[in-house]
Amino acid sequence: MNPINFVALGQSAKNFLIQASRIQNLEERLQAVNTITSLQEALMSLQAENSRLEQEIRTLQDQIRKYEDWNQTKDQYKLTQNTHGASLFIHTKNNSKACPNCLGKKLEIILQPSSSRGWHCHNCQLSIEWEPQPTPKYDPPKNPLNRPFSLPH
Ligand SMILES: [Zn+2]
Repeated sequence: MNPINFVALGQSAKNFLIQASRIQNLEERLQAVNTITSLQEALMSLQAENSRLEQEIRTLQDQIRKYEDWNQTKDQYKLTQNTHGASLFIHTKNNSKACPNCLGKKLEIILQPSSSRGWHCHNCQLSIEWEPQPTPKYDPPKNPLNRPFSLPH
């Protein structure tokens, strides 16, 4: 649909009025007035439609912006499964855990710890058992003789 050119429409109406003002015959003049009235009504209807379409464009642009923002948020999480097949979305930078149910509904709900191994979503009440990440242990070098190390003389 082409955009409405209100300037061109206004110029056409002005030209029509100039032509109509030169009409001497009363009946033709009355017909011209009726035509002008119809054109004014059509113009007002087009202006209303134009306003409605402009509002619709703003609404759609807003939805696109929200969709793009949501994709940026969603892309910060990585879907991770534990050894039992449970899934979590883990933030790639701050390691927070997001609820997989709520993330699927475009809600970023950070899971809260519910026990030493579990996580809970306050929004959908999902509870997930999740082993904590093993912390690397310091493994000192083995001394097979179990006595202080000494350099050879
Ligand atoms: Zn949830």
